[in-house]
Amino acid sequence: MKGSKLYSVFKGKCPACHEGDVFETKNVYNLKTFDRMPERCSHCNHKFEIEHGFWYGAMYVSYALTVAMSVAAFVLTYLIYPAANVWIYFGAIVFVIVGMAPVTYRASRLIWMNMFTAYNPEKSSSHE
Ligand SMILES: [Zn+2]
Repeated sequence: MKGSKLYSVFKGKCPACHEGDVFETKNVYNLKTFDRMPERCSHCNHKFEIEHGFWYGAMYVSYALTVAMSVAAFVLTYLIYPAANVWIYFGAIVFVIVGMAPVTYRASRLIWMNMFTAYNPEKSSSHE
């Protein structure tokens, strides 16, 4: 799996070396610390925020993920309980969006980073 962009996104690893962690804590549901990121990769020194304002672009990814999750929540509700009224659908969608918010936040940054930075095996092996 290592070397693919999916590895970086799902493991939260640096997009350049796939070794260093992008976020400081493992627990995505610690709401005080889930968004903390070091400025640079601890392994290859890649600067995560490539340019000022880089993370604004991650909002578009976040929007796409949110729409996808809303559709999934809607379909799932329909499959489990087809007779549900509109408020149950609405509640299920809000529940999923709010519940997944920290995951969406991290995933959107990781996906966005991987769109601009390619895996570089030389950076990965420099310490091993
Ligand atoms: Zn790195």
